[in-house]
Amino acid sequence: MPRGAFPGTSPISQAEASGLPASAPIDVHTHVVPPDVVNGRRRYSQADVWFGRLYRNERRVLATADDLRRSMRRAGFGASVAFGFAWRDPGLCRANNDYVLQAAAASNDPGSRVLPFCVVPPGDVDFAAAEMERCQALGAVGVGELFPQGQGWNLNDRSAVRSFMDTVRSLGLILTVHTSEPVGHTYPGKDSTTPDAIWSVIEAAEGEVPIILAHWGGGLAFYELMPEVHQQAQNVYYDSSASHLLYRPDIFRVMGQLAPGRVLFGSDYPLIRQTRALRLASEAGLPPDDLAALLGGNARRLGLNTPASRDAV
Ligand SMILES: [Zn+2]
Repeated sequence: MPRGAFPGTSPISQAEASGLPASAPIDVHTHVVPPDVVNGRRRYSQADVWFGRLYRNERRVLATADDLRRSMRRAGFGASVAFGFAWRDPGLCRANNDYVLQAAAASNDPGSRVLPFCVVPPGDVDFAAAEMERCQALGAVGVGELFPQGQGWNLNDRSAVRSFMDTVRSLGLILTVHTSEPVGHTYPGKDSTTPDAIWSVIEAAEGEVPIILAHWGGGLAFYELMPEVHQQAQNVYYDSSASHLLYRPDIFRVMGQLAPGRVLFGSDYPLIRQTRALRLASEAGLPPDDLAALLGGNARRLGLNTPASRDAV
């Protein structure tokens, strides 16, 4: 069953050999940027403060869509959600979205499908609405990974947040948001989007927008032990992106208990190689059914297994 593997490798047999579920895993959190951004990182670092903070250092890896596809074949992923960087500038968002949408339309290899999300500056409500509508018409299935602090999104402006979320809801998109822990060590991407800050977004969604909180949600799941928080968070999902930089491996088991059915495997590629992220998750000691749910079962129930149905980019 060839799935575009490199010579000498077979994703299927790798997966089987490592005890992974038979169906190919899904990565809900990868970033790709156009080659011009990879080659011009200094220029783009000056254009966007948070991009500069994260990527001015040449050792921080950036990936193109071709890089992602190669990585997916090597690691045996059946699908990856791909988004650009959450630029503050609308024009850069639009250009990155076009690139992601083109990559998804070109990914007709059923063994390594790219599921496109779009990035928008969410505080720019009118632009964001128009851009999300444009991208949804071209195949985007979600919006994100949004970066509230980096993009200047005022989460305390309840009416603007509600307006943005109304658009996300009406377009039937999934929302992925970067979140951070209110305590612990600092790192370049640590921002002010802590569990209390993101709560206005969850409230505005009224349970009708699937929301994926990146990086395990900054700890919000703990508060799901409060019944009213749990009730409001029924459509909130948590992805495992960048887990290796933040938590002990126990996090996989604990999160599976706090939010059963709502944990999703995400790598944050190219921050970490997909092969390594997959290995770390599969070695975290989860029971087989829980591992299968994390690596794809939950994402499929969320609708993240369907091919890009529109390829009119
Ligand atoms: Zn993030």
